[in-house]
Amino acid sequence: MAKADLMDRVVNLAKRRGFVFPSSEIYGGFRSTWDYGPLGVLLKRNVKDAWWRTMVQLRDDIVGLDSAILMAPKVWEASGHLETFTDPLVDCRNCKERFRADQLPESGACPNCGAKGSFTEARQFHLMFKTHVGPVEDDAAVAYLRPETAQGIFVNFQNVQTTSRKKPPFGIAQIGKTFRNEITPGNFIFRTREFEQMEMEYFVPPDDSPRWYEYWCQERYRWYVSLGIPEEKLRLRPHDADELSHYSIGTSDVEFLYPWGWGELEGIAQRTDFDLRQHSQFSGQDLSFYDQENDRRYLPYVVEPAAGADRATLAFLLAAYDEDSAPNEKGGTDTRTVLRFHPALAPIKVAVLPLSRNDRLVPVSDEVAAMLRPHLQIDVDTAGSIGRRYRRQDEVGTPLCVTIDFDTLDDKAVTIRDRDTMTQDRVPLDKLLAELQDRLGQP
Ligand code: ATP
Repeated sequence: MAKADLMDRVVNLAKRRGFVFPSSEIYGGFRSTWDYGPLGVLLKRNVKDAWWRTMVQLRDDIVGLDSAILMAPKVWEASGHLETFTDPLVDCRNCKERFRADQLPESGACPNCGAKGSFTEARQFHLMFKTHVGPVEDDAAVAYLRPETAQGIFVNFQNVQTTSRKKPPFGIAQIGKTFRNEITPGNFIFRTREFEQMEMEYFVPPDDSPRWYEYWCQERYRWYVSLGIPEEKLRLRPHDADELSHYSIGTSDVEFLYPWGWGELEGIAQRTDFDLRQHSQFSGQDLSFYDQENDRRYLPYVVEPAAGADRATLAFLLAAYDEDSAPNEKGGTDTRTVLRFHPALAPIKVAVLPLSRNDRLVPVSDEVAAMLRPHLQIDVDTAGSIGRRYRRQDEVGTPLCVTIDFDTLDDKAVTIRDRDTMTQDRVPLDKLLAELQDRLGQP
């Protein structure tokens, strides 16, 4: 399949099956904003849950946080965002479109109208959304929508450290909405102005920072592999010196091979003690850590893996998309669209399918659904031929289907059908839940 086709097909499927809709669609949409539909919200939530499970639940050195989106404006002075969080902006004099100067094609031609040499000089454009808090819209009321979740973590460093009684090395993790007034959003949910980040700030003794940086680069790369992204579509790319953010002494990106080329999925940065030092200075509060064992006081260094929940969701969708051939009901074969999601990410884990809407089958199907529902996200589908229903589930990545047929009434067993192998196995009803959980790899 051509790469451009893959993107079209995934965007199309996302719309048609209720993963992602253009936002405000009945008003003609709104500037690259997107809404997650019934399946999309489950998928993205599974991505965030998988991250939280790996980063918080399965470790004893990382705790969570959920800080406010609106923060004291001083935070952005201290963090350097007010001064430096800009992108270079150019206009095309011919068609009036705007572009990021660092993303123009080498040919120098306008990507919109093709005009050559038509760009204005670059000027710095600020990426933070500004708003006013309270009833008076004057300068004293200015506030910003946070452009990263990280600062909420830094300003709470002491609160969290003292209440959780953690000592470096330890981390604070946060998932939440972030806003950037991007000049050129696009590529579906890859780059938007409102998105969700999954960030973790890992506080370490300064000398240990390089070692932990190496560790987190490997860990984060492996996380994507463990959830089904093939290694040939992933790479770790260290930044060149001129790419580094103002706070970083070393950054690597986990990149994914999107249909348009390699692009960032997550950045792992050595932020040094930049943020804690700045906040100590600007707030007048000493944010250093007292290391009792060695009787010394120091500002911890920070290693930060910062991922995007929406970008990761897109990568998992793209990597899962597949077409193969499957037998149809006329004895031939058809092309089958299948999302090969890792079971942990699949929006629906199990579909319950009574063979028909027959009066004797429906009550059994209802019982099976009621038994499974407290444990698994299920879907019950009774409409159309069983073959068509399998296809519908394949297309949204449901790993397992459970079919209730007339034999079920006598043998108290059902058929489990596997999305990837399409094999079918008969399983007694009293072993069904355990069998499904086992196949889904549920803890
Ligand atoms: P880019 O270079 O693509 O603009 P960045 O280097 O500015 O990204 P970071 O500040 O490192 O991004 O943010 C961490 C993560 O947040 C990124 O790896 C990405 O997954 C996500 N992210 C950043 N900007 C956006 C956006 N506009 N839309 C969706 N996700 C984003």
